Amino acid sequence: MVNIQDLLDDAKCYETVRSLRWPEGIACPHCASDSVIKNGRDDTQPERQRYECRGCGKRFDDLTGTIFAGHHQPLKTWVTCLYLMGLNLSGLQIAKELDINKDDARAMIQQLRQGVVDRRPPVTLSGEVECDEVYVVAGHKGHPEAVQKKGGSAEDDA
Ligand SMILES: [Zn+2]
Repeated sequence: MVNIQDLLDDAKCYETVRSLRWPEGIACPHCASDSVIKNGRDDTQPERQRYECRGCGKRFDDLTGTIFAGHHQPLKTWVTCLYLMGLNLSGLQIAKELDINKDDARAMIQQLRQGVVDRRPPVTLSGEVECDEVYVVAGHKGHPEAVQKKGGSAEDDA
């Protein structure tokens, strides 16, 4: 069986990510400055370009601020997932093609649908927030003194 992931090369995958996240050229994910210089490559992923921003001085790389950062799946798997989504395959089929479990596939698909740039909104609660109330009713177990005596005790009969 042909595994499509084996046909992809990393350089193309990183190129794809760059064109997806920076369609108008590289910009700093911290301050949005486009005054950015290249700053070597990742130690373990040689195709992953590192940059330094001349605006804020911060460093970042191709995956900083994307949904791909901090995930254990290799970029190839993400790009293949994106490709398979374009073919309208089901989550289950995608999981099979990628050889990962269906929950992982589902989570990846969900994130890819929202775009590759991580736009997680800051956590704010708005509108009405409902909480389930839980009433804890303490029993008498372990607290015999709390149990009211009913009727007389054996000693009173003497
Ligand atoms: Zn910057």
